[in-house]
Amino acid sequence: MNALPQNLADPSAHTLPGREPLIGKSMEELRELVKSMDEPAFRAEQLHHWLYVHCVRSLDDMSNLKRAFRDKLAERYQVGSLVIDQKEVSQDGTTKYLFRLPDGKVVESVLMYFEERGTYAICLSTQVGCAVNCDFCATGKLGFMRNLSVAEIVEQYVYVQADSGKEIRNIVFMGQGEPMLNYDNLMQSIHILNKSAEVGIRHITISTSGIVPRIYDLAEANLQLTLAISLHAPDNATREAIMPLNKKWPLEELMPALHHYAGATGKRLTIEYILLAGVNDQPSHAHDLGKLLQGLKCNINLIPYNPIGDGYGYKRPSNNAIHRFKDALLPYGKKVTVRVERGVDIAAACGQLANKVQQA
Ligand code: SAH
Ligand code: SF4
Repeated sequence: MNALPQNLADPSAHTLPGREPLIGKSMEELRELVKSMDEPAFRAEQLHHWLYVHCVRSLDDMSNLKRAFRDKLAERYQVGSLVIDQKEVSQDGTTKYLFRLPDGKVVESVLMYFEERGTYAICLSTQVGCAVNCDFCATGKLGFMRNLSVAEIVEQYVYVQADSGKEIRNIVFMGQGEPMLNYDNLMQSIHILNKSAEVGIRHITISTSGIVPRIYDLAEANLQLTLAISLHAPDNATREAIMPLNKKWPLEELMPALHHYAGATGKRLTIEYILLAGVNDQPSHAHDLGKLLQGLKCNINLIPYNPIGDGYGYKRPSNNAIHRFKDALLPYGKKVTVRVERGVDIAAACGQLANKVQQA
C-alpha cells in the first residue's frame, strides 16, 4: 500500500468491550470459527445465512442451531454490537439511524428510497468524525475520533435492513468519515457486503475527498464499483480555501490519479461538486471545471450546499445560479446532474451528519 502522511495515517485501533460480534465475519472466517469449536462444517453456512440473509439480531433467533452450540457460541460471541439510539423519519421518507457503538460513541446511517427506480439505498459511515476537516462539512467540524471496525461498518447495513424490512440494493460510502482513511476495513467490508450480503459490486459507491495514494491502491484492486471524487473546485486556490487537504494533494497530483484510475479500471468516475454561493458557483468556475475534466471519463454531480448551522459563512446558491452553472458546463460534453437533497429537515443530507447526541 502507498504510504500516507503521519497525521492522516493513525488507524486508532480499538478494542470492543463485551463479546466479539459475528457480523463482519466472512464465510471463510466463519468456517474457521466453526472448525475451532469442533462443529461440523455445515454450521458455518447456517450461521452465515442467519447473519446475512435473515439478518437476525440474536443467537436465540437462529432456530435451526442446536441449543448446545448456541450456548457455546454465546460464551464468546454475539450477533452484533450496535444499538439503535434514535431513528428519525424525514418528510420525504428518508430515515436517519443513530447507532450507539460499544464504547459509547455514536454514528449515523441514512436509508433512502429512490422512487424512479423503486429501490432503497443506504449511506454508511466509516469513521466517527473525520480528520479531513472540509470547511463546509458538519462531520469535519467534529474532528476525528476513531475508525469503525469491519463489524461496525457491515452491521449498519445488516441492522437497517432488518429494522426496515426493506431490501437495500445500493450502498454509498458517503456518511461520516473519509472512507479511504480507513482503507483496510473499508475493503474488507465491501468484500463481505458483496459476497455475503450479496449487494452487487456495481451498486456500491465510495466517495472520497481525494486521498491520492489510496486512489492508486483502489485502481490496483480493480473493483467494478463507482468511485466518486469530492472535487468541489476547479483550481488550487479555491479548493485549498475550502478543503485543507488540497495542500497535501493539490490538483496536479489528484488529476493524474483520476486519469490513472479511469484508465486502469475502465470505469467512469463521478465528480462531486458542492455549490457554495459566491465561492465556487460562478460560470467562470464552470468553464474552468469543464476544461479541467476534458479527457477524463466522468459524470458530474452538482451538490447544492446543505446548511450545517449558523456561523459557517456558507450559503446555498439560488436555483437560478445552480442552473446557470449547470448550463455553462454542458458544452463540455459531460453528463451533469444536480443532487436532490434528502432528509434536510432531520439533518440527514450530505454533510449534515454530526452526532447531535455525541455533542451534547
Ligand atoms: N468523506 C467523503 C464522503 C462523505 S461526504 C467525501 O468527502 O467525499 C459525501 C459528500 O457530501 C461529499 O462530496 C462532501 O463533500 C459533501 N458535503 C459535505 N458537506 C456538505 C454540505 N454541507 N452540503 C452539501 N454537501 C456536502
Ligand atoms: Fe470528511 Fe468528507 Fe466531511 Fe470532508 S466532506 S470533512 S472528507 S466527511
